[in-house]
Amino acid sequence: MTHFHTIVIGGGPAGMMATIASASYGQATLLIEKNKRLGKKLAGTGGGRCNVTNNGTLDDLMAGIPGNGRFLYSVFSQFDNHDIIQFFTDNGVKLKVEDHGRVFPASDQSRTIIQALENNILELGASLMNNC
Ligand SMILES: Cc1cc2nc3c(=O)[nH]c(=O)nc-3n(C[C@H](O)[C@H](O)[C@H](O)COP(=O)(O)OP(=O)(O)OC[C@H]3O[C@@H](n4cnc5c(N)ncnc54)[C@H](O)[C@@H]3O)c2cc1C
Repeated sequence: MTHFHTIVIGGGPAGMMATIASASYGQATLLIEKNKRLGKKLAGTGGGRCNVTNNGTLDDLMAGIPGNGRFLYSVFSQFDNHDIIQFFTDNGVKLKVEDHGRVFPASDQSRTIIQALENNILELGASLMNNC
């Protein structure tokens, strides 16, 4: 029987990034997804193109948060929009910037983003269990 340090349930973008974070710390990690493929909802985002992030400043991001978003400063100090741009660039995804700083894959296909996440998960040696 295989033992895991970390089991992540749900292969959307949050679960995929959690799996990557765990595996990159050398933890034996399993990602369980109930659908046949990872990122089903992500596939339809941004009209099928996936608006990955925005390339604005932290102040630009905060200006777009309704209400008091101050608690997000500590989150963004750990990993912000520029880190996500770097993450995908390091993983071979060419990105482009459109109006209002919106960032999309140059392929205009959300599948490019999902594939990059899945490849990274497998490269890090994490395990995937679909239909589960
Ligand atoms: C029409 C639309 C357009 C959008 N466009 C964008 C965009 O362009 N850019 C952007 O950043 N965001 C966009 N969003 C928002 C984005 O889709 C969500 O923020 C994102 O998908 C949330 O990710 P998540 O991993 O938290 O959840 P989800 O994407 O919902 O993933 C959760 C996963 O968990 C799985 N799951 C749930 N329960 C179980 C279980 N018990 N066992 C196993 N697996 C389970 C589900 O099957 C699913 O795959 C859009 C949303 C919609 C609806």
